[in-house]
Amino acid sequence: MDFSLPPRVADAVGKVRKLFETDVLPLEAELLRRKSFKAILPELAAARQKVKAAGLWAPHVPVEWGGMGLSLTEHARISEELGKSPLGHYLFGCQAPDAGNMELLLAHGSPEQKDKWLKPLAAGDIRSCFSMTEPDLPGSNPTWLGTTAARDGDHYVINGRKWFTTGAEGSAFAIVMAVTNPEAPPHLRASQIIVPTDTPGFRIVRNVSVMGEPGEDWASHAEVDYENCRVPVSNLLGPENAGFFLAQERLGPGRIHHAMRWIGIAERAFDMLCRRAAERPMSPGKRLADKQIVQAWIAESRAEIDAARLYVMHTAWRIEKEGQHEARDAVSAIKFFTADVLTKVLDRAVQAHGALGLTDDTILSWLWRHERGAHIYDGADEVHKVSLAKRILGRYGVKDLDSPSGVGAPLGRVRDK
Ligand SMILES: Cc1cc2nc3c(=O)[nH]c(=O)nc-3n(C[C@H](O)[C@H](O)[C@H](O)COP(=O)(O)OP(=O)(O)OC[C@H]3O[C@@H](n4cnc5c(N)ncnc54)[C@H](O)[C@@H]3O)c2cc1C
Repeated sequence: MDFSLPPRVADAVGKVRKLFETDVLPLEAELLRRKSFKAILPELAAARQKVKAAGLWAPHVPVEWGGMGLSLTEHARISEELGKSPLGHYLFGCQAPDAGNMELLLAHGSPEQKDKWLKPLAAGDIRSCFSMTEPDLPGSNPTWLGTTAARDGDHYVINGRKWFTTGAEGSAFAIVMAVTNPEAPPHLRASQIIVPTDTPGFRIVRNVSVMGEPGEDWASHAEVDYENCRVPVSNLLGPENAGFFLAQERLGPGRIHHAMRWIGIAERAFDMLCRRAAERPMSPGKRLADKQIVQAWIAESRAEIDAARLYVMHTAWRIEKEGQHEARDAVSAIKFFTADVLTKVLDRAVQAHGALGLTDDTILSWLWRHERGAHIYDGADEVHKVSLAKRILGRYGVKDLDSPSGVGAPLGRVRDK
């Protein structure tokens, strides 16, 4: 088995690391100092131009759409590098939720939708958001939605309330999950519809403050009201009533991107843990590194991060070779396994820094605030555990287990619908 990186990926990793030193980490320091994403937008735009000039823009996007055209496994490796700073994915044009929306449009957009929305999105000229979760119903059950899209001639009229629509502020359009056929079986009720944010009736109620951060621009999570939002039927993405399957399909590669981003964050935290252990004097002639419990944290973190990386890369490889459906057990497992490694390593790094770890003088507290959500978004850990266990037990003849979430439904079968 050959674990070496293909030359073009190794080359890209080297270039990404250089840009991190010259541009990304200084900008990250500015973000911490000014505590405002909006305030550094001009500097971010200039850095994005440098990324484009270096030929590193949008690694996951095909070359004909202006990206690097990397495969899933290749992009996974780059995603780890970019994850080492909260600004990495944004600066290289592959940030959530835009990356997933680009993939959706590539796979299911009509030629007109691609021209109108994918082109400027892939170029980084506009941003987008994904509006599925609702405040009053469980996001863990994506087949149960209150938002409706009623057909009225050549239009859909959308009504409902969403929240945690990441990056809605400043977005040009939202992809909205709404019920188009309430009488159908649960998995066949909803559709995904493109709603330009200047559509009358689209209203950002508020940016939801998360862990003490009000949020702004891309770095925000909005509550959004859709009140009689009228959009043409041509804004439907993929087949009508296939919204659930599109969402599942969107989440497969998305989980690889997120999981590798988490590994990048864990590597950054691990580096900070080791530096702190090596540098912090604890008593005359003794450092934190001399404490055996800290040595254990370091050894365990190393093994856990490496195991998670191998698991995620193998899952990406399986998605490429066998398809999402065949790889779905692994896709579920890497979600909760990697989220767990991330928060464990991050917590050890915070702990090793003592009070400093809680301050905004290092990136650790920012990472902790923003990444605790890893256990919740992209399917709560428990949902993945339950659905994985259910599938495994099914192979042992246990068929009558409750599956309230629908997450155990087949992945990647959109075109069958
Ligand atoms: C940082 C962040 C960004 C997000 N961005 C977006 C976005 O851009 N667009 C969007 O639409 N949504 C987004 N979300 C929302 C996210 O998808 C939901 O929070 C998630 O699906 C969980 O839904 P919920 O919050 O309604 O929790 P619920 O569904 O109410 O679940 C609450 C808890 O119940 C437990 N639970 C759930 N199901 C089971 C089960 N079967 N067995 C055992 N325990 C269970 C879990 O611990 C879960 O955390 C984001 C969330 C976060 C934190």
